[in-house]
Amino acid sequence: MNDYLRRMQQVQSVNLRSFKQRVRHNKSRFRRFLSKLEKKQPKGFQNMQVHLEKEVWKEVDCLTCANCCKTMTPTFTAKDIKRISAHFGLSADAFKAKWLRREKSGDRDWLNKTEPCQFLDLKTNMCSIYEVRPADCAGYPHLRKNMKDYGHVYKQNLECCPATYKMVEKMMMHLDHHLTPHILQKNVFQ
Ligand code: SF4
Ligand code: SF4
Repeated sequence: MNDYLRRMQQVQSVNLRSFKQRVRHNKSRFRRFLSKLEKKQPKGFQNMQVHLEKEVWKEVDCLTCANCCKTMTPTFTAKDIKRISAHFGLSADAFKAKWLRREKSGDRDWLNKTEPCQFLDLKTNMCSIYEVRPADCAGYPHLRKNMKDYGHVYKQNLECCPATYKMVEKMMMHLDHHLTPHILQKNVFQ
């Protein structure tokens, strides 16, 4: 069997129903683990993150999920708006009027008016503007980000992103061995 076929055999379809059940069951424990990591990361942690992220993407097939595009909105920066509106041959104002709303408080970011995202093809789970998608989408789910500053992002994404859940599960397996057998009783994607 060649490497491609071997890799394809490892990739798992996401079962969102099972994922949500697992989140309900393990959320508190995972959050406590992340809180500890936010305060202090062991030596070599960033190298471990890079290694584990690669493992995650060998196992998770986003095209069977798209939960981020279905349930969350990206933040559109001024650069994103310029690039995507040009892609549609629209002015930035016309693009905003058609698809975006502005946050009422906080950073006053530009967000999607509706969910699922209007650019998601619901039949294929593919992004119809993939080449010009917002930077936020391109970086999501930010699995290599510094845990000290982005621990809260991990905690937030844990509940909607199976890849993030898998990443935290793997971190626990590497760093918190005594918790592993209990947590990994059942695979989250089955
Ligand atoms: S990034 Fe996470 S939520 Fe988005 S499609 Fe992939 S696994 Fe699903
Ligand atoms: S722009 Fe594309 S990648 Fe971003 S949320 Fe919409 S469908 Fe998903």
